[in-house]
Amino acid sequence: MGKILEAKELKKYFEVKAGTLHAVDGVSFSLDEGETLGVVGESGCGKSTLGRVLIHLLESTDGQLLYKGEDITHVSRSKLTDLRHEMQMIFQDPFASLNPRRTVFQAISEPMEIAGTFSKKEIDERVYEMMDTVGLARRLVNCYPHELDGGRRQRIGIARALIIDPKLIICDEPVSALDVSIQAQIINLLLDIQEQRKLTYVFITHDMMVVKYISSKIMVMYLGQMVEMAPTNKLFEMPMHPYSKALLSAVPQLDVDHKHERIVLKGEVYSPIDPKPGCRFAARCPYATDACRIAAPPLKELLPDHLVACHRAEEINGL
Ligand code: SF4
Repeated sequence: MGKILEAKELKKYFEVKAGTLHAVDGVSFSLDEGETLGVVGESGCGKSTLGRVLIHLLESTDGQLLYKGEDITHVSRSKLTDLRHEMQMIFQDPFASLNPRRTVFQAISEPMEIAGTFSKKEIDERVYEMMDTVGLARRLVNCYPHELDGGRRQRIGIARALIIDPKLIICDEPVSALDVSIQAQIINLLLDIQEQRKLTYVFITHDMMVVKYISSKIMVMYLGQMVEMAPTNKLFEMPMHPYSKALLSAVPQLDVDHKHERIVLKGEVYSPIDPKPGCRFAARCPYATDACRIAAPPLKELLPDHLVACHRAEEINGL
């Protein structure tokens, strides 16, 4: 499997009244075809902004983005149209992302209409094929979003994302607005489609159980930065960054023989606006020392494929 997406020191800053908001601040990763990268962190950590930068809904401030080895950091309008055939996005709230005045048919067919290269017959056939693929009954084709439940609306979002046969899909909290019973159906649908179409996903979520189920590797973000990245099983077996440890301690365990204590984080969350030097997690970290407040910890590969940004990770984890 070749590399499909690479980010190198990617940054997205916003100028706001109080200063410069560092929403994404130097994120690097590479993703192979067919993989799923789970991106986790609390709300405000920059994960949704990262997703939008990856798919060019937002322009990066700095850094480099490569798609199949080609530099796509800055692209022309026509190149962006080509990229839309390769990359699509599924949004958190299908109700908000669907136009209330457009029917199921119109919503699903829109990416083909925008591409402008398909005949009416091709569009008709493809819309029904997509409805079958995502499990939407054909009789719903002329319904409007408000006539459907959340699960069906998200199936429209998925059909829309798939209709021009992309290779990479950014899924931004695609199940968090849905009931738990529907969440499992949508996750399983995404997994089936991935296998059938050899898709690559970037899956953004705050839900550690969902990310464990769907991802092959996981990136943990904190205040715009990647603090840990590892294959899913390694991260769950041995989270090494103090923030990842806290996130995972909140996941319910089935194994009653292994007691685990929930780590409750105290302390202020630093502002992402003109952030202070040093580790951004220092105010909440139970292991913080004065040195942590002076210099930002570099990302280091402490075990094979397991990257951590913490000055004291070796000591804390007995390495
Ligand atoms: Fe905690 Fe220091 Fe590691 Fe930051 S660098 S996570 S403050 S121990």
